[in-house]
Amino acid sequence: MRLLLVEDDTLLGDGVRAGLRQAGYTVDWCKEGRAAQRALESESYALMVLDLGLPQLSGLDLLAWLRQKGESLPVLILTARDTVADRVKGLDSGADDYLIKPFDLEELTARIRALLRRHGGRAAPLISRDKLTLDPAAHVVTLDNQPVDLAPREFAILQALLENAGRVLSRERLEQILYGWGEEVESNAVEVHIHHLRRKLGATLIRTIRGVGYVIEKPENPS
Ligand code: CA
Repeated sequence: MRLLLVEDDTLLGDGVRAGLRQAGYTVDWCKEGRAAQRALESESYALMVLDLGLPQLSGLDLLAWLRQKGESLPVLILTARDTVADRVKGLDSGADDYLIKPFDLEELTARIRALLRRHGGRAAPLISRDKLTLDPAAHVVTLDNQPVDLAPREFAILQALLENAGRVLSRERLEQILYGWGEEVESNAVEVHIHHLRRKLGATLIRTIRGVGYVIEKPENPS
């Protein structure tokens, strides 16, 4: 899952990016607001972590610009300002949640998971499909109640396909989810991950739509 981090503090940004990558996310990092605008216009993100105190375009201005476009992208703001008024202003400007610096990386990732869950319209934290269950928080997949050992990128592909059940995701879309800026996309990587997923989870779960991409069908009797 691809996240945009907007933070001008190099040390903090570096730490947050490393922590989010550790948690299995693909992270693009912008150090100022205008670069973030360009990124938001050209890439597709699941969530933005936004520092409010930025050079040039402020975090609040960036947020206002985003919401004016009608974008519902979940936004978690980071703020050193600990007055109630600033937090209220951020939330009123369209932020979905906030953290006050300094914060714990574990709390940040927990809040991100909660936001993504709410945004995806899932009340339950688990994604289930027949005998398969994926726990985004614990990064655990079980099949018939038995844990399945997945590499981080296999997990990311499976999660994306389950969350978009019924929709075909192209190889390019999956590469976008798997790789951040500056990371070299290995050729055939997606095909290889799909191959491994089928070996571990059965051949029928993920369908190939030739020339288009991959899909996990919606359950026939959604309950
Ligand atoms: Ca700052």
